[in-house]
Amino acid sequence: MSASTPENIVIIGSGPAAWTAAIYAARANLNPLVFEGEPVGTELPGGQLMLTTDIENFPGFPEAISGPELMDRVKAQAVHHGTRVASELVKQVDLSQRPFTITPNYSGAVTAHTVVIATGAAAKWIGLESEIRLAQQGGGVSACAVCDGAMPFYRNKRLAVVGGGDTAMEEAMYLTKFASEVVVIHRRDSFRASKVMANRVLTHPKVRVLWNSQVTEVLGDEFITGLRLQDTVNGSTSEIEVGGLFVAIGHTPNTKFLGGQIDTSEHGYIKVAPWRTSTNIEGVYAAGDVIDDYYRQAITSAGTGCMAALEAERWLAHHGIGEAPVLETGESSIAKAEV
Ligand code: NAP
Repeated sequence: MSASTPENIVIIGSGPAAWTAAIYAARANLNPLVFEGEPVGTELPGGQLMLTTDIENFPGFPEAISGPELMDRVKAQAVHHGTRVASELVKQVDLSQRPFTITPNYSGAVTAHTVVIATGAAAKWIGLESEIRLAQQGGGVSACAVCDGAMPFYRNKRLAVVGGGDTAMEEAMYLTKFASEVVVIHRRDSFRASKVMANRVLTHPKVRVLWNSQVTEVLGDEFITGLRLQDTVNGSTSEIEVGGLFVAIGHTPNTKFLGGQIDTSEHGYIKVAPWRTSTNIEGVYAAGDVIDDYYRQAITSAGTGCMAALEAERWLAHHGIGEAPVLETGESSIAKAEV
């Protein structure tokens, strides 16, 4: 790590995308350096899987694996192949000249020929102490129905979904497969979700909507037992028994440290070329939830992490840096750049 010798590849992040990129880069002898971040509030190195209990849909684990264990194992695999890890957050990057400069929170700046941004997206939480505690201890609070909803814990129970956007509609529909009843709790009297998705929810026999309602407390010590609600119009309070809470109030892609140097969508997700992970800056790739407001799965993140490492490897090989050049194809030629 020295400002004078550029790294081949710096990977920023610590979820499935980052570690998969590192495994591929390390096995290509690119000697990758990963900035895995550090704990800040509910954000932990390892990303959102650190808040997921059993993962039953990651291929290769028929008996399920916990989110933290999966992250430990992919990290161990990356380290085993020679990945170096810095346990600090990146506070800023300078992508305006090559090699790029990456400045972490505490140690000195690092330069790199290629960068993979895999910093994920943070699920938004309501912000209640009881909500965060139960989410962290696997007590029946989750921010991802597709990840957690099929677990036996949630079956045949009344499940609550908070939110009024497309994500909340999707989560509510998904949960109707397992729940005895799905209660959608929304703070206003109309959904912001698209009409077609909202109508599906509103007409589903298993779904009930509580309009003008805000969750003010998640009840239960070890496991969720219910919710305390407040009416957003008249201020009255009530309680409802539930066996699970799914918070679906949006995600925030972690891109602040980029300082606007990378093109993003209107919701802040990094824009990449179709079926590629290349960004608007050559040599900078993005993977995982920071580019994805659609799938948001551990396996799709891992897949794009692999793509990013291969694209970076191709770029380096094209410019005569690193070993193990990957053949370019006619369809994917790489423009020349000053290195
Ligand atoms: P979103 O559209 O921003 O909706 C967030 C919802 O959560 C809103 O209804 C909002 O209420 C509510 N909310 C926000 N903060 C809250 C709080 N503190 N307490 C209670 N409720 C709160 O987010 P999203 O649903 O994740 O969708 C993001 C983008 O992805 C959208 O463009 C969406 O169309 C897209 N998306 C598309 C699909 C699909 O097409 N299949 C699926 C998922 C997402 P208010 O309405 O009162 O603001």
